[in-house]
Amino acid sequence: MNSNAVIAIHGGAGTILRSSMSASAEADYHAALQAVLSAAQRVLAEGGSALDAVSVAVRLLEDCPLFNAGHGAVYTAAGTHELDAAIMDGSTLDAGAVCCVTRVRNPILAARSVLEKSEHVLFTGEGAEAFAAAQGLEFVDPAYFDTEARHRQWMLARGQQRAMLDHDGATLASDASLKSAEPTPHEPIDPNRKFGTVGAVALDIHGHLAAATSTGGVTNKQVGRVGDTPLIGAGCYADDATCAVSTTGSGEMFMRMVAAYDVAAQMAYRQVSLQEAAHDVVMNRLPKINGRGGLIAVDAHGNVTLPFNTEGMYRGFARLSEAPETAIYR
Ligand code: ASP
Repeated sequence: MNSNAVIAIHGGAGTILRSSMSASAEADYHAALQAVLSAAQRVLAEGGSALDAVSVAVRLLEDCPLFNAGHGAVYTAAGTHELDAAIMDGSTLDAGAVCCVTRVRNPILAARSVLEKSEHVLFTGEGAEAFAAAQGLEFVDPAYFDTEARHRQWMLARGQQRAMLDHDGATLASDASLKSAEPTPHEPIDPNRKFGTVGAVALDIHGHLAAATSTGGVTNKQVGRVGDTPLIGAGCYADDATCAVSTTGSGEMFMRMVAAYDVAAQMAYRQVSLQEAAHDVVMNRLPKINGRGGLIAVDAHGNVTLPFNTEGMYRGFARLSEAPETAIYR
């Protein structure tokens, strides 16, 4: 039994300023993160797999309207929701993902079904939904994903004619200006509301790793746009030999850097620590192409690192029989 078992989660990174967050909103975020960590911690304590722990954590985060995944997902340019999710088992390198789903209540459960029941790795749109339906997953009316806060955020983004990171209004690569190396202006579209993509990584008592990530994407994204989240190696990666990683941030840059896999690759090929590899990706490599965001990662020894290059990242971790720790700001 591996007594270093641990679960870590994130709820997105961005311009999260202490000055623009009310005490009660802050308390809500901490409480939500703590509840999710406690539930996943129980799974690990009972001998459950890392894969089960990250599935439970991300499903709960999808159900929580505070975060941009599942209920509370951001809006596309057409006023709809298109959800992406991925999951990976570090013990087998099995992976499953879905993108552009609009009616599956918990996209992470669809991704898990793909991992377990399909010879394929990634399903999109209608095909993903047909597959999820065949597995008996729960479907909802697309209005289930609506929230007033996200709608307001979308109206603001529409006014500015661009796609925006849900948590800080940073422009995305649908805007040609982002192809330059100019720093993204940090202009919150709504300083009171910072929401984010969700993810979880875990090491279980059997010594296995897993990672899961789920998102509504970026506010006002073009219909059909897919970010890093459902792409194995970009937004999600797990290998018992190195680490498990879940990312959040400007997806186009995380894709171009193959960010999650790069952490694992640096550990394998450069033989650096988890912390050094993750730091290099988030603090050195991503900023070179104006990549903003962060990641959470855990290795087979139970080391945890939660780096981000933005003002804040909703995050936390919990070891067996220790109280969960959560944080928002730098
Ligand atoms: N990475 C996500 C995407 O580009 C967004 C986020 O992390 O908030 O779809």
